Amino acid sequence: MQRDLNIQMVDLKTQYQHIKNDVDNAMQQVINSTQFINGDEVKNFQAELADYLGVKHVITCGNGTDALQIAMMGLGLKPGDEVITPSFTYIATTEVIGLLGLKPVFVDCDPNTFNISPTAIEKAITKKTRAIVPVHLFGQSCDMAEIMNIASKYNLFVIEDNAQAIGCTYSGLDHPQKTGTIGNVGCTSFFPSKNLGCYGDGGAMMTNDDELAQQLRMIANHGQSKKYYHDRVGCNSRLDNIQAAILRIKLRQLDTYIHNRQKAAAFYDKHFESVPKLKIPVRITDSNHVFHQYTLQLDDSINRDYLISYLKENGIPAMVYYPVPAHLQKMFSSIDVSKGDLSNTEWLTTRVISLPMHTELTEKQQLFIVNHIKNYLNTNS
Ligand SMILES: *Cc1c(COP(=O)(O)O)cnc(C)c1O
Repeated sequence: MQRDLNIQMVDLKTQYQHIKNDVDNAMQQVINSTQFINGDEVKNFQAELADYLGVKHVITCGNGTDALQIAMMGLGLKPGDEVITPSFTYIATTEVIGLLGLKPVFVDCDPNTFNISPTAIEKAITKKTRAIVPVHLFGQSCDMAEIMNIASKYNLFVIEDNAQAIGCTYSGLDHPQKTGTIGNVGCTSFFPSKNLGCYGDGGAMMTNDDELAQQLRMIANHGQSKKYYHDRVGCNSRLDNIQAAILRIKLRQLDTYIHNRQKAAAFYDKHFESVPKLKIPVRITDSNHVFHQYTLQLDDSINRDYLISYLKENGIPAMVYYPVPAHLQKMFSSIDVSKGDLSNTEWLTTRVISLPMHTELTEKQQLFIVNHIKNYLNTNS
């Protein structure tokens, strides 16, 4: 039974089956053209994504981590500058801060939304603070009205890490805007399992600032202003045409994909909302949720490891995003954060569990997952 159900965290194979003809043809066309780098597919994809997001410039690059790095370089951040970041995030967000010699200033998150706390941001500001990096974790927007307010009050840059929330709409400012287009620059990833994923690595930056866009484009291409003239030290980070061709096809499906994820989340909600020891993902009124992950919070009385192995024995994968907060990684052992300053983050890393969430989940699969979790809770607590 469980083998027939073939439940996965992300089911890219079934998703591919539905778009196979289009994808295969598009890839073959790129191969026939032998225009693998800097071709029309990349240009068209940039224009189509900019149109979808309602932003002036989309600059593609090699991956989401590069996008964050190039964005910080493009804004002219210098070694020693302080950058405020959540600690409850994927490591890439904070790693690039360290890589550029900037100082990550880790702040706590809101325990309901998992997103960076504006109050904690404001408390962490010093004379050296230059930027804030809000991460729209798991697919829901941060409190961008508050964050933009703080940024303008203290004259700080805002670099949105939108790797998990592409397509999410934030409506807490004067008009609805896509996340990633609200700050000075937004960054995203097209890693295969992301909500808009390619079949390899890819990433992009989004901005409405013409000058910044030009810098970002230049940095991603060896600091080149015109062929063989290099104005600044940059890097080599690009999306290739095969990936862009695939992304163009998947972009047309993005709203349907988001709808499928939201439908799956609503099914989980319905079955879990009255279970006393589980807390379903909290939604805020100013944002929709595009459910990169569906993440539950477990009551202290539940042994998370036992629950995960029980699910695994029954053919149900479950993951912990993230088991170790950034500020407690060895990588950042030289950065001092007093214990307790990030108490929400530290508590959440012991209590969260993410369930299978993707565009192809069936109600039969979800019912199987729900019943096993309920069964575990009934017999073990
Ligand atoms: C995936 C991800 C990244 C990095 O993207 P890559 O394409 O893997 O480099 C950065 N930030 C967050 C929040 C992510 O989820």
